[in-house]
Amino acid sequence: MSGGLDALRTRLAEIEDLRRVAGLLLWDQQTQMPPRGAEARAEQVATLERLAHERFVDAETGRLLEAARAVEARESPESDAASLVRVARRDWEKARRVPAALAADLARTAALGQSVWAEALARSDFGHFLPFLERTLALKHRYVACFPEVGDPYDVLLDDFEPGMRAAEVAELFTALRDGLVPLVATIAAHPAQPEGAASLHGDFPEDEQRRLLEAVLPRLGYDPEGWRLDRAVHPFAFPASQRDVRLTTRFDRSYLGTALYSAMHECGHGLYGAGIDPALARSPLDDGASLGVHESQSRLYENLVGRSRPFCSFLLPLLRERFGAAFAGVDEEALYRGVNLARPSLLRVEADEATYSLHVILRFELERDLVAERLTPADVPEAWSAGMRELLGVEVPDDAHGALQDVHWSEGMLGYFPTYALGNIMSAQIWERLRSDLPDLDGQMAAGELTALREWLREHVHRHGRKFGPRETLARAVGGPIDVAPYLRYLRAKYGELYAHAAA
Ligand code: ZN
Repeated sequence: MSGGLDALRTRLAEIEDLRRVAGLLLWDQQTQMPPRGAEARAEQVATLERLAHERFVDAETGRLLEAARAVEARESPESDAASLVRVARRDWEKARRVPAALAADLARTAALGQSVWAEALARSDFGHFLPFLERTLALKHRYVACFPEVGDPYDVLLDDFEPGMRAAEVAELFTALRDGLVPLVATIAAHPAQPEGAASLHGDFPEDEQRRLLEAVLPRLGYDPEGWRLDRAVHPFAFPASQRDVRLTTRFDRSYLGTALYSAMHECGHGLYGAGIDPALARSPLDDGASLGVHESQSRLYENLVGRSRPFCSFLLPLLRERFGAAFAGVDEEALYRGVNLARPSLLRVEADEATYSLHVILRFELERDLVAERLTPADVPEAWSAGMRELLGVEVPDDAHGALQDVHWSEGMLGYFPTYALGNIMSAQIWERLRSDLPDLDGQMAAGELTALREWLREHVHRHGRKFGPRETLARAVGGPIDVAPYLRYLRAKYGELYAHAAA
């Protein structure tokens, strides 16, 4: 009954339109809006999101999904039509479980959280944030209770960001990751902070010049000036208003070149995923990444596996000399490579290098899981945080601002989100190993700033599927197997073993 499917398609397309418009308003809020617009903007976004949600959970959507069962049975499960029905039904059944009043409570609390968190962070006072965190956890328990068949409560939260992934599976992966990383990081920490001859990205780099550097670099990755934008934002993000209208943001730090360059390459990786989805899936719930973890695998791949590679540094160096001559006059490619790969245990996740980053994530996952299972009370988080940082990274947390208050996620109600960062790291290395064997001249291409074959490989093997398949199947299609930490550990040991002699031991 294609008539049934047409009506379903139209309905889902309108809902998707509402969501993208809400996203565009949020993009505007972060990049253009004068501060006094905040109050009205919150109402505008809430209205659009409510309309989209109501229209989606409506019984009529259910009726159309029911009518589409025939299409689903007739078509191959890999077809766009069957995938649309399957994914939309899963989303619908999940959304219907949550009572509207609870959904509104969750949304309202999340909207209020940011200012409470910002104030607590400014005062470095976890106690100021504590009542908010307690309220959020109570709401999350009510949310978890909407899915009584799920055994581990953390699975419910994780599923919102990494569909189908279980907390026990993450715990197993993270144990292997931790066992590999802790000794590697300890060896790095025992060496001088600066490997011999490393270039410094610290200095004086005017924003205009940094912007011109990005205008030279990003198009090599696939940024299309006719279909993309780059704006400034305090917390960089990427948002595809549509597949042909991709909004990137970055942050400029005049005294450190690495901030804008690597955050822009990271967000460009997200943008390429959004732009690379099959156009046939546009204006549908399939027009998005398979999961946040798979999305992060794409951003990390461009930021780190490309951006911090030796060949890419040799492409980058002449551009740096052109823009910032004096600062890079005496620097050679090897020094630049060493300079962009400095590693050191530190307090802040967002400033962490490749070797230490995942340990920050593992700590958050363990604390969240204990909080949700009520093995840890919110008041005890700062102490548990300090103990974890000591154990995993060997650093002492001086205050809450550099400890349990540093991330915005909990203030936005996003519990279950953190693991996706490390899952993205793990998957990025698996995908990288696979694509390197398919593209034997990749190093030469990166050194020439020629990244078209790389982008096409990712589009063909990852991007084009959008949300047709879950993260597990999307990864399996790209690399031929399940998620595995071995390639990521191999990559880090090889890289840092060479940079910090003996670190591979
Ligand atoms: Zn990201």
